[in-house]
Amino acid sequence: MKTENSEQLFNRAMEVLVEGCSSASRGPMNYKPFPPYMREGKGARIWDVDGNEFIDWQLSFGCLPMGHSHPKIVEIVQEKVAGGTHFATALEVEVETAELMVNMLPHVDKVRFANTGTEACMTGVRMARGITGKRKVLKFEGHYHGWYDGLLVSTNPQPISTLGHPNDPIRIPDSSGLTPGSLEDTLVCVWNDEVALERMLATHGHEIACLVMEGAMSNMGVIPPKPGYLKRAQELCRAYNVLFYLDETVTGFRVAPGGAAELYDLQPDIVTFGKALGQGFPVAAIAGPDHIMESIEYGKVLHYGSHNAPRLGLYAAKTMLEEMSRDNFAGFHKITAIGEQMTKRLNQVARDTGQNMRVQNVGSMFHPVFTDLDAITGYREFCAAADLAKYADFSQKMRDQGVFFSGNKILHNLSCTEHTQADIDTSIEAAGNALEQMAR
Ligand code: PLP
Repeated sequence: MKTENSEQLFNRAMEVLVEGCSSASRGPMNYKPFPPYMREGKGARIWDVDGNEFIDWQLSFGCLPMGHSHPKIVEIVQEKVAGGTHFATALEVEVETAELMVNMLPHVDKVRFANTGTEACMTGVRMARGITGKRKVLKFEGHYHGWYDGLLVSTNPQPISTLGHPNDPIRIPDSSGLTPGSLEDTLVCVWNDEVALERMLATHGHEIACLVMEGAMSNMGVIPPKPGYLKRAQELCRAYNVLFYLDETVTGFRVAPGGAAELYDLQPDIVTFGKALGQGFPVAAIAGPDHIMESIEYGKVLHYGSHNAPRLGLYAAKTMLEEMSRDNFAGFHKITAIGEQMTKRLNQVARDTGQNMRVQNVGSMFHPVFTDLDAITGYREFCAAADLAKYADFSQKMRDQGVFFSGNKILHNLSCTEHTQADIDTSIEAAGNALEQMAR
């Protein structure tokens, strides 16, 4: 594989960009010795500056349910761009997109648009505090909700010996620069464990504004909830007067038309969306029932933003919602079926080659973990038993064969509507080759 142009760009980039790019996840930490610099994408394919072609299963960390430069998205954006990129005024397309969302989400009466998942989550937490008058937030180990100080605690894999007792996990700051106050106000619990959650809420419920979580973990491989766990969590929140906040930044408009709330039959008080919603444009949203959303009316709980509700992004979002929902939500069914097939066949290849790779999925999100466990049911199992170096080796061997699996060792891979059966077959063959090479 030719890499001269990427290497040259990396050398230039290192003079002017930290780590040669704009997020640690994209740089040499995950792509050694330098990342491939991408030039363009079409459908499920991407090309780098050396002309290498890849089948893309990373899909911008989940931002592209319809793949790259889908003709419908290109058409609407080209049509609208000449009429202005941004107004920072109310827009017709803002109303239309919110209407589509509310129709797809029975638990949502109102929507407020933002740009990124991080901003949306920051606002969700502020709303919870404003509504309840309580100060603390309860989150789970290994659940990532963006890089806002108040939620940047215990999100990364850590040596199991550093995590503390599961009944009282140690809160681990994921960045320098967090104040002691952020850590003090952010409580952490183990996920997928009803008893631990009940104990935590019984002790601290009076001071907790909200419990925030993903419905299925997408940032520590893919870990589904245990049957009944989420419903019980919701019930416990109601019992302890704690707002139940589902962060659907990844799962929203992906694992089902109504996200994890639909998949697991939940009625969250606060929901946040991002990623898939903008189909590649930065569009995020905070949403919920009227009595919750009214907290941000007239800046009572403040939510501002010059770039909120970006016009072109909203046209992309509206088009994505319409296209994916066509023919009784055929787009959503398609990405789920592809994710299921990839998971099943990758697991089969692992068995055939005698490798300890286990692939878990929730619909279109899937992730291979190298482990001797039969299944990963929580963050602590992931920390203790996932061989991240082996995943790095596997994903590099996949990319060497033109199949782009995420270089980030803990993030999910995903399907889009544009993956073909041939893409799946080629990717499975590449996985077989990669695993065979690893066995040698
Ligand atoms: N919430 C979850 C569950 C996420 O996975 C992410 C990003 O990966 C975020 C929030 C933050 O979103 P963004 O990267 O758009 O700020």
